[in-house]
Amino acid sequence: MSQGIPAKKVYDVCIIGSGAGGGTAAKVLAEGGLNVVMLEAGPTLNPEKDFKEHVWPYELPHRGADVGGRARHELNTEFMSPNGFWEIEGEPYTTAPGSSFRWFRSRIEGGRTNHWGRIALRFGPADFKARSTDGMGDDWPITYEELAPYYDKVEAYIGVFGSKENVPNAPDGVFLPPPKPRCTETLVKKACDHLNITCIPSRLAILTQPVNGRAACHYCAQCGRGCITASNFSSSQVMIPPAQATGRFTLIPNAMAREIVLGKNGKAEGVTYIDKTTRSENQVRARAFVVAASACETARLFLNSRSSSFPDGIANSSGVAGRYLTDSVGTHLAGYFPQLEKVPAHNHDGVGGMHLYMPWWRVGQKNDFLRGYHIEFGGGRHMPGVGEFDGVCAEHEGYGVSLKQKCRSSYGNVIGFAGRGEMIPNENSYCDIDPNVVDRWGIPVLRFHWQWGENELKMAAHMQETFRSIIETAGGTVLTPHRDASDEGHAAEEKPVVDPALVGKSSISEGGTIIHELGTVRMGNNLKTSVLNENCQAHEVKNLFVADAAPFVTNPDKNPTLTIMALSWRTSEYLLDQAKKGEI
Ligand SMILES: Cc1cc2nc3c(=O)[nH]c(=O)nc-3n(C[C@H](O)[C@H](O)[C@H](O)COP(=O)(O)OP(=O)(O)OC[C@H]3O[C@@H](n4cnc5c(N)ncnc54)[C@H](O)[C@@H]3O)c2cc1C
Ligand code: SF4
Repeated sequence: MSQGIPAKKVYDVCIIGSGAGGGTAAKVLAEGGLNVVMLEAGPTLNPEKDFKEHVWPYELPHRGADVGGRARHELNTEFMSPNGFWEIEGEPYTTAPGSSFRWFRSRIEGGRTNHWGRIALRFGPADFKARSTDGMGDDWPITYEELAPYYDKVEAYIGVFGSKENVPNAPDGVFLPPPKPRCTETLVKKACDHLNITCIPSRLAILTQPVNGRAACHYCAQCGRGCITASNFSSSQVMIPPAQATGRFTLIPNAMAREIVLGKNGKAEGVTYIDKTTRSENQVRARAFVVAASACETARLFLNSRSSSFPDGIANSSGVAGRYLTDSVGTHLAGYFPQLEKVPAHNHDGVGGMHLYMPWWRVGQKNDFLRGYHIEFGGGRHMPGVGEFDGVCAEHEGYGVSLKQKCRSSYGNVIGFAGRGEMIPNENSYCDIDPNVVDRWGIPVLRFHWQWGENELKMAAHMQETFRSIIETAGGTVLTPHRDASDEGHAAEEKPVVDPALVGKSSISEGGTIIHELGTVRMGNNLKTSVLNENCQAHEVKNLFVADAAPFVTNPDKNPTLTIMALSWRTSEYLLDQAKKGEI
């Protein structure tokens, strides 16, 4: 039961969470004329101070090495963007017996958009109509055509590079010119051309030309550490500032929302939150609420907001909140390419991510699994990260000049491949409230239940076979699975879980480790099987909206964040329209 002291001021809208979804809602709603307050569980961000884009490993104590000189593979905040963690002290989550799941959370203005890989892919028309296509899962209550104008708006505003390709079910967008492929990427593309695997310029939310006063990328390739010039997209630098410029936006940092309070009229009337700096409980009031705390935090807030009308969580008579949890199917493999040893030193500069990628190239062909995956890859002579040579030093004896020569000759010759595929929701993968555990603020925590389905295991096996053929066709040797160079944040943290039935053929990522968890408060036309309607508005509480990945009905192979922003923009315009009509 809420203990918060009701506030006197009533805002038009209260947004919970300042990441991709919350930031987009803040910009659209404040610019649309509404008075907006935002609760953010983390502190505010100062890019000049908090981003480590230009810090060198030698500026860190012990060059960033851990106890005993070992490399540290976690996203350490001395070198990486701040406040993004696999574990948060005092804010645990649990996993049910037999389940394995990891949850990456950010606690800072802008959320995980300070840390993400900036891969910005549109979902395709078939992704919204999956059940109609193959009978599994469900269709979205909206079509690609309904969301397309919002993809256009988001891309034009944030800046996404790419190229027009007409690949089936991988729609083109409003693109800035893409950067040229690097040496390693050209090598891989040749192999893909030989194997009939589509390999095209990647689509990343990074500016190759100035946009709205933001400078073009200067190709330092350090995006994972934050971009001081805001040349890549983060909500903190691109969405929150225009909301602030309206004078109608109030950000309350270090405010952990605990419960949405239901009024006597059946509408939400307030949110209680813990002020983390004073540990006091407060309440903020508004006429409408947009929850964008990230899919699982949003489910947690819904489930923890109990009342006599909704004993199982606000707007959750269906019992669907927490269900239909999915993550992308992931697996990775790296190859060593001896021919690169002979390549003279050359310019490997570029954006902090891949310049080419492989969209799903077998649309409409017969496969032994449903849906599809895309391939991300990386490697080459980028700036070494903290602990980059830990592996080389462990494998080679010696020190001084001979060790340096070994580092030089092997450096940049590894290319890592990572698959990102579609998971079909299943009844064994969901989150609920752990009845026995609360966090340091006294808020009950989430418990994860997780199981991959047969389709996902077959897909991961196919990914491994594809990576192997690309590596071998390109003249490389497959390396034993280990930490690879495919993409900094994920590869370092992914723990392959080998399924005994597929040993030697497949290893699939641990649930949650691809950081594309979604679907927990889903939208739909049926009150019994969904929490939200086609406008991401709660069926049962009309002034309550969701603007992150919780409403998603499917989790196609495309990374979710561009779709979070497009959907949030659409939801926010609907909310604006309702507010103008006096409906909210
Ligand atoms: C290393 C890494 C690489 C990634 N790469 C990609 C990629 O290339 N492409 C892609 O599409 N996606 C990628 N992602 C995923 C992407 O970051 C997320 O999909 C996206 O940020 C989700 O946006 P969101 O608004 O739902 O939540 P978030 O960005 O997580 O923001 C949620 C915010 O809500 C706040 N919050 C949470 N609970 C509460 C509460 N109770 N009260 C108040 N505030 C709260 C949090 O502090 C946080 O600031 C990556 C993620 C990581 C970590
Ligand atoms: S590569 Fe470009 S976008 Fe990324 S941090 Fe460097 S300047 Fe910024």
